[in-house]
Amino acid sequence: MRNKNILISGASIAGPTLALWLNRHGFATTVVEKAPELRDGGQAVDFRGNQLDVLRRSGLLDEVRRHQTNMGAQIILDERGRRAGVMPPEFTSGEVEILRGDLSRILFDATKDRTEYIFGDSITSLTEVADGVEVTFTHGGPRKFDLVVGADGMHSVVRALAFGPESRFRKEAHFHFAGFTAPNHLGLDRSGFVYNVPGRGVMLQSKRGNTQANVGFWFRADGLEYDRHDVEQQKRILHELYRDAGWELPALLAALRDADDVFFDSLCQIHLDHYTRGRIALVGDAGWGAGPGGSGTGLAMMAAYVLAGELAAAGGDHEAGFAAYEREVRAAAEAGLKQAKGAGGFLAPATSGAIRRRNFTYRLLFTRPLMGLFQKMAIKAANALTLKDYPIPGYSR
Ligand SMILES: Cc1cc2nc3c(=O)[nH]c(=O)nc-3n(C[C@H](O)[C@H](O)[C@H](O)COP(=O)(O)OP(=O)(O)OC[C@H]3O[C@@H](n4cnc5c(N)ncnc54)[C@H](O)[C@@H]3O)c2cc1C
Repeated sequence: MRNKNILISGASIAGPTLALWLNRHGFATTVVEKAPELRDGGQAVDFRGNQLDVLRRSGLLDEVRRHQTNMGAQIILDERGRRAGVMPPEFTSGEVEILRGDLSRILFDATKDRTEYIFGDSITSLTEVADGVEVTFTHGGPRKFDLVVGADGMHSVVRALAFGPESRFRKEAHFHFAGFTAPNHLGLDRSGFVYNVPGRGVMLQSKRGNTQANVGFWFRADGLEYDRHDVEQQKRILHELYRDAGWELPALLAALRDADDVFFDSLCQIHLDHYTRGRIALVGDAGWGAGPGGSGTGLAMMAAYVLAGELAAAGGDHEAGFAAYEREVRAAAEAGLKQAKGAGGFLAPATSGAIRRRNFTYRLLFTRPLMGLFQKMAIKAANALTLKDYPIPGYSR
């Protein structure tokens, strides 16, 4: 096997999944993660259709099911906080739903014995030479790897270093999303609320056996300027935006003050013509970040499976393996980007009239004939990729 030593940037979903499959195929993996420890925040992520196959093949489906949210219906509220509809769990939770942080932990635990994990560091330069890639880091000394994979999300440093600045590939959606953990002050029992005022949305859901709640804020924001690393500034922005929004916002903003897992980002999309260049590849959000509704987590895991499998099938030849990887995942990545387009407008309608129309659409969607149609649409991106078998000597599933 050629190109045995592979460096992966990012230890969230795509990175550890790739490490798992590369290890099984006999490659040696190192994962470098910028955060000082595994990040356990994030909302629930769901799996539908073919996406379950990657969990099954990895042998992690039972473990994921043990951690599933078992979320029930969500109540849609009108602008005055009154019940305006009910969202059934099939709509929001797919076939299996798990908190992003729990999934990341499961993947980390499944790989930590065979993968070298380096936390609190980041790649600063990549120099491709004839027989590998020379890599420098913010803290660690320089090292050389055969191949490098960016699994480092929307703001991938590997993409920036090997493909060009993010601005070249980024399409703005003009919305932002913020999420954090709060006390379950309403005593929600595996349920949640969706609430909107013009231009701003709130999602509140119980989690972890109802001991806590997840809060999600979606809002319209054109030209919002802030420091991506300054969480206190992000909290101030959210406070200003939501302090007059009524309903349970005083309690949620009080919880935000104490939250230590705030995730704050714009709902942009990443569009690239190629996911690989020379000895460097991208997987997951780093390659085709789609935003909410784009099946991002399931696809990141499927694509990581494919990348490892194609490399192995090519005997480690990165030119052949990377080309096959691109051919396999391109259609599914495009389908995810298309499916997520416009999600912001649905999550945070601009006016009171638009909120009422959106709530009416929700109610229509949840009638029996349209629910079937919705489920077909929701599964389309998930089923745009069918996993092939990549035999692993001595390993059976
Ligand atoms: C803490 C967190 C919370 C999230 N919450 C949500 C959510 O609520 N809703 C939602 O839709 N999506 C959320 N996401 C994104 C979601 O996980 C992805 O869309 C999807 O799972 C695809 O995963 P990924 O591994 O490709 O990218 P990501 O999950 O974004 O992971 C990228 C990883 O790379 C790391 N990283 C970034 N820069 C560097 C660097 N320079 N060097 C090394 N490592 C780096 C990040 O810390 C992260 O661990 C969240 C991601 C994270 C990390």
